[in-house]
Amino acid sequence: MSTRAAQFQATVRRREPLSDHLVRLVLGGLDGFESTGVPDEWVGLVVPGQFQSRYYTVRSFDRDELTLDVVVHDVGLVTEWAMRDCLGDIVTITEPKASFSPPPDARWLLLVGDLTAMPAMARIVEARPDLPTRVIAEVPDDLAGYLPGTTEVTWLTPPAPGQSALASVVEGIEWPEGEGYFWMAGESAQMRAIRKHLMREVGLPASHYDVMGYWRATAGRQPRKVDPGPIWRAGKAAGKSDEQIWAEYDAAREADHD
Ligand SMILES: Cc1cc2nc3c(=O)[nH]c(=O)nc-3n(C[C@H](O)[C@H](O)[C@H](O)COP(=O)(O)OP(=O)(O)OC[C@H]3O[C@@H](n4cnc5c(N)ncnc54)[C@H](O)[C@@H]3O)c2cc1C
Repeated sequence: MSTRAAQFQATVRRREPLSDHLVRLVLGGLDGFESTGVPDEWVGLVVPGQFQSRYYTVRSFDRDELTLDVVVHDVGLVTEWAMRDCLGDIVTITEPKASFSPPPDARWLLLVGDLTAMPAMARIVEARPDLPTRVIAEVPDDLAGYLPGTTEVTWLTPPAPGQSALASVVEGIEWPEGEGYFWMAGESAQMRAIRKHLMREVGLPASHYDVMGYWRATAGRQPRKVDPGPIWRAGKAAGKSDEQIWAEYDAAREADHD
């Protein structure tokens, strides 16, 4: 039996900028795609001409249309593609995975995230109107209409482009009374700090929180300094697959960052 994740071809049917840094893409086709129904579900997205995937939250899935809200930042495989006119492009989507799992005794939800977490937080809020929910959102744009109107939201501005101060925000939170569920996503280093804080200071049981690193900041460093040409030629000469070559290119870029 194959352990490879199922993949689906999709066509970009609509492209709608939601704000300066957020673009909505509506994909069609997707024969056989099935949603998990879990509101923070995500898929891998491979854009034309690339082999590497990047993860995106399924903002919604309706019959054969799947909506992704993509953050556009300075440079990046998907960012640069999504900034262009990508209507009609064929992309590959991997089968969805999900994480949001509040325990049955949860009486409240606390959701914290940056711009990349907005699609998941919006979908969680829509999915769980039964639970009193507070959202803390650190975003560079005015997204006032993005979350359902009844939600209690604290809007914060990132300290600088591509940076986040969410770890210190969470360290100062006044926790609601009783059992609840804490969900958080954003820059990986911030998330690592928060996991430690939750374990050491807050003492939340692991079943009552979910903290996910959605992206890794490489601030001030040039992500494309490594020339892919020699890696590509050496890989081809050694008979390696495209996936192996791109993995080596990725590893070289990572090493260049350290
Ligand atoms: C489960 C999961 C769900 C996610 N859901 C979403 C979603 O719904 N929408 C969404 O936009 N993202 C989402 N992300 C984050 C997204 O996968 C990453 O931001 C990804 O790196 C973007 O790919 P890229 O090709 O644009 O940039 P990359 O090629 O990966 O990175 C290029 C450079 O950009 C920097 N960078 C990457 N992401 C950001 C960012 N957000 N802000 C500033 N700098 C950045 C990197 O440090 C690197 O220097 C999710 C991630 C996970 C793990």
